[in-house]
Amino acid sequence: MAEIGHGGKEIVERIMEPAQAKSKIQNLAKIPVRSQIANEIIGIAYGFFSPLQGFMGKADVESVCKNMKLANGVVWSIPILFDLSDEEIKQYGINKGASVVLTYNDNPMAIMEVEEIFDYDRKSMAAAVYGTDDPKHPGCSRTYAYKDKFIGGKITLINRPKINPPYDPYFVPPLELRKKFKDKGWVRVVAHQTRNVPHTGHEWLMKGAWFQTYGELSIEKPIVGVLVNAIIGEKRKGDYIDESIILTQDELRKSGYFGDHNHLTTLTFWDMRYAGPREAVFHAALRTNLGLTHHMYGRDHAGVGTYYGPYDAHHMLEKIAKDLAIVPVYSMNWLYCPHCGEVTSEGLCNHKKEWQKFSGTLIRSIVMDGVKPPRLIFRPEVFDLVMECADKYGFGSPFVTDDYLAKRIPVFEIPPM
Ligand SMILES: [Zn+2]
Repeated sequence: MAEIGHGGKEIVERIMEPAQAKSKIQNLAKIPVRSQIANEIIGIAYGFFSPLQGFMGKADVESVCKNMKLANGVVWSIPILFDLSDEEIKQYGINKGASVVLTYNDNPMAIMEVEEIFDYDRKSMAAAVYGTDDPKHPGCSRTYAYKDKFIGGKITLINRPKINPPYDPYFVPPLELRKKFKDKGWVRVVAHQTRNVPHTGHEWLMKGAWFQTYGELSIEKPIVGVLVNAIIGEKRKGDYIDESIILTQDELRKSGYFGDHNHLTTLTFWDMRYAGPREAVFHAALRTNLGLTHHMYGRDHAGVGTYYGPYDAHHMLEKIAKDLAIVPVYSMNWLYCPHCGEVTSEGLCNHKKEWQKFSGTLIRSIVMDGVKPPRLIFRPEVFDLVMECADKYGFGSPFVTDDYLAKRIPVFEIPPM
């Protein structure tokens, strides 16, 4: 049976076996790509980004920027672009109609059919996607860093990424993930977008969404699951290290705060754009492809700084809900109330003066201190694991440092062919 993804299109994996590809690529130009592009090749080839089959051409970019839709009318919010400098285009002799090989770690990764070579005004692209052209916005600065020209065209993965431990069990492409959901008997699955180690506020965000997603369904059998889908991509100094994010999220299940019957953790390769409302829409498309029926959106989803209002993403999703096949599940902040003696929602508890909010600064200082915090703030198993990951993977730090950036084990590699 066909698996239908975002925009009502069948999810197709664009993957060719290496043995078959070997003879095809011998005489093609080999172009090295950076990690962002490699992440997006994986996204396209396995169907995470369905219905995209390649990097966007100008008509799609224009339509995405102006109307938040692909040229064919399917909702899409962020341009997916492959860029090259004029010099590289000349050096590799890239012409419209040619096929080229994209390489990563010096090994062939994908074949690209060059359908278009074009330019696009960076400033108007940034303003459309991010609602600002401020170069201080990390998404804008990523846009401004694109090289001279964009190359549009279909890609085919010819060499599967080798996912390194401890990430390997968590890379589950859309078709495989959908099968897992069926095996578990889940009829609804709600997505939790994260790039964090979970404190109890995050745990309750998931629990609240699980209740909401059950809705009118019978509760006699476990038929609703939570999927933690961690975004793994380029790191910034001060972020949690990737190993601790993925392992601690799964620890909530292993330690029994959730169970196999309602909780699963996987990852998606993507360099966060911090596009707020537009990133929320991108996440909806991505998780539709993963087979999710619901998606939780908390306060200031995928925002950064003060560029977006706390509920801007919710308002955007409300506007386009009819064009999405995934149901947004909205949430207010979860916080700790000492009076209630529990984690509660700011929409429930009325002891406003006593609230202890889970601010990033508070959580960071707890982790930096290394002294086990109260279990109502941080689960002891999660906290111990953060410390263990710091030793094992973080060169002594739970957060990304220069050392980590220079010496970390890559999440994936492209093996020799
Ligand atoms: Zn209270």
